Amino acid sequence: MNDKNPFPADAGINTRLAHAGNDPREFHGFVNPPVVHASTVLFPNAATMEKRAQKYTYGTRGTPTTDALCVAIDELEGSAGTILVPSGLAAVTVPFLAFLAAGDHALIVDSVYFPTRHFCDTMLKRLGVSVDYYDPMIGAGIEALIRPNTKLVHTEAPGSNTFEMQDIRAISEVAHRHGAVVTMDNTWATPVYFKPLAHGVDISIHASTKYPSGHSDILMGTVSANAQHWEQLKEANITLGICGAPDDAYQILRGLRTMGVRLERHQESALKIAQWLEQREDVARVLHPALPSFPGHELWKRDFTGASGIFSFVLKGGSPERHKAKAHAFLDALAIFGLGYSWGGFESLAVHVGLGDRKICKAPAEGPVLRLQIGLEDVADIRADVERGLEAASKV
Ligand SMILES: *Cc1c(COP(=O)(O)O)cnc(C)c1O
Repeated sequence: MNDKNPFPADAGINTRLAHAGNDPREFHGFVNPPVVHASTVLFPNAATMEKRAQKYTYGTRGTPTTDALCVAIDELEGSAGTILVPSGLAAVTVPFLAFLAAGDHALIVDSVYFPTRHFCDTMLKRLGVSVDYYDPMIGAGIEALIRPNTKLVHTEAPGSNTFEMQDIRAISEVAHRHGAVVTMDNTWATPVYFKPLAHGVDISIHASTKYPSGHSDILMGTVSANAQHWEQLKEANITLGICGAPDDAYQILRGLRTMGVRLERHQESALKIAQWLEQREDVARVLHPALPSFPGHELWKRDFTGASGIFSFVLKGGSPERHKAKAHAFLDALAIFGLGYSWGGFESLAVHVGLGDRKICKAPAEGPVLRLQIGLEDVADIRADVERGLEAASKV
């Protein structure tokens, strides 16, 4: 990277993760971008101020720090533009507010992240938008659910907690034929393992809180649009005044530098644990798209280039009234896994999944669903910890 040589256009994903975003030559050669804290930006004279005729005009509209992250995400997503918002949930609600109006209808996948459903069932409903939930495996069959006023189809693959896959290309084709915008929550795969815009999606959504942050300490969301939808998304971002903070943007860009190698380790360890669980007598099913036994595995294999480190398994639960006690016994016996929400950080986490919100993808009947985020610890230690949990659950 010197003044003479352009960055190779065919660079691989880890090369891009290492260099995308800021250009060190633009700030005295320092490798990382400056953290610019800003509301006011000064103009050199009244005419420039009147026309806002300079690159930066006000803190809510971007700084060199937030730009560095947005440029990096655009490069990874292949998008025309990216906005930063203060959480992954805001990365869902802001585009919904950008593309929906009173009288519109939206189709939302039933295996959706629960707070997305909550937003749809409360605030969107109050604003006059009607919502229907659809089966993640519906594919082109989604056509039967499209109404004349359907303006948005929201996808998330794999689904939250139960990891159902979706035929993103088939759904996008139908939605576009009917003039609806397609959004996708791509948090699980990250742009390293799936590129939504290359599969027909218009708006790619990420909780960068997860793998891009990687350290369980930063909240941030990104929303990336194709050229056709970028202006409307950017306009909504500015109208709502919901923007990402510079320190957080800096940390997310820092996280991207190592995200590729972290994901490789998450993927490898998670698959080892998933395969091991699948062999056990006390486990009914393992919900992991990279396992050939998983319904939707073929879609994953066709479209995704890898799997991240979070999946669930269904414990053989005995009678339904014992499911919760078994799940709690499992969780309380763990020594390495933390009990906590969110994922994508360096440490292993476990949670008993509640699926009471589902309308179509109902909870498995065989027993409690336990979700594991497999961290960067030694896999032998992780496996021993899960074994401790299973041992305790077997005594309930
Ligand atoms: C965690 C998560 C979010 C929300 O991210 P926050 O930063 O915690 O608000 C959105 N979508 C999915 C799929 C998630 O897992």
